[in-house]
Amino acid sequence: MPINQKAYELLSAGLQKTNTILIAVSKTKPASDILALYELGHRDFGENYVQELVEKSKQLPADIRWHFIGHLQSNKVKLILPFVQLIHGVDSLKLLEEVNKQSAKLEKVTSCLLQVHIAKEETKFGLDETELQHLMVHLEKFTHVKVSGLMGMASFSDDMDLVRSEFRGLKKLFDKYSVYPTAGIGFKYLSMGMSADYKVAIEEGSNMVRIGSLIFGERS
Ligand SMILES: *Cc1c(COP(=O)(O)O)cnc(C)c1O
Repeated sequence: MPINQKAYELLSAGLQKTNTILIAVSKTKPASDILALYELGHRDFGENYVQELVEKSKQLPADIRWHFIGHLQSNKVKLILPFVQLIHGVDSLKLLEEVNKQSAKLEKVTSCLLQVHIAKEETKFGLDETELQHLMVHLEKFTHVKVSGLMGMASFSDDMDLVRSEFRGLKKLFDKYSVYPTAGIGFKYLSMGMSADYKVAIEEGSNMVRIGSLIFGERS
């Protein structure tokens, strides 16, 4: 299925006005769809699965900025580190340690977002507030990781009041840690909002949205 160029153009024009970064989520979609969007000038793409991302990155232009937005297993970190722009879903101390260790081997610093569990569903990944606090306090230990902000997913729900309150809670944490001594000036991204809830997310302070189906169509 072709990409929805009209929807993309409207979306990206609107997001530019609010200085919101658009991550086009291309999981399960063919490289040709990514290339079609690339040719419209888009460079930030999000993928959820390591193997799929590795394959696509080999086939597609080198100046694409790849965002890993899925749940990352520690043993797969090293497969994406050489080329990944930003890892959105760092949801455990163990994973942060592994990203740090593997980045040190490559003599690079990897940008990450800490994923916070804000949804009602048990199934969504993420740190709770205590775990987040613990990581933020100890960030100095991680010399090869730059924590650039927070990421979260709201409940999968039509109840927009619930979704809004979850985003609002995450924004509060983001503001709190933005001024944390260990956070530094690079702590600036709040990644929240998808096709169904990005407007609410932006109203609540998101500056980075991850949008798939609106641009690429529904996934089968
Ligand atoms: C799939 C996915 C998205 C995009 O979802 P859409 O509803 O297609 O916009 C955003 N974020 C994460 C973490 C995802 O897994």
